[in-house]
Amino acid sequence: MSKIETIRSNITKHYEKKKEEYQKRRSRDNRYKWGKYYQDSKWKFLRELKISHQPICEVCEAEGRAVPAEHIHHIRRFSSGVDEFEKYKLLLDYNNLMSLCLSHHKMAHEIMNNENKDMVTIGEIVKYDEKLRQAYLGSPQEARNK
Ligand SMILES: [Zn+2]
Ligand SMILES: [Zn+2]
Repeated sequence: MSKIETIRSNITKHYEKKKEEYQKRRSRDNRYKWGKYYQDSKWKFLRELKISHQPICEVCEAEGRAVPAEHIHHIRRFSSGVDEFEKYKLLLDYNNLMSLCLSHHKMAHEIMNNENKDMVTIGEIVKYDEKLRQAYLGSPQEARNK
């Protein structure tokens, strides 16, 4: 490895370590902040109920694939509740739940974070997924012209 490559790889390692530290800290903070909600026995029950009713990711299903749901997502963030009562109401509202695979769950939160929104629809996740796929594979138009 040349000297410059060594330096570059050291810098990359340094940043990855920082990023990892940051993510660890953030997930610890989140557990502390939201842990009591996720430990709620009614939430655990509802979560199991939803998974048993809808074991397939709802976005994958809309895209015509059957992928097991790994996560139960709140359509409207329960953290958006103005007070404890509202937060619990959103947390424990069966109609506020969506079964998602890991990657669609990530996308749902990416969209909400990027657009600063408290909720996202299945249709919006499908569109976002399509956009990511096109960015990765090139648009169908480009592919046809190749
Ligand atoms: Zn999915
Ligand atoms: Zn979620």
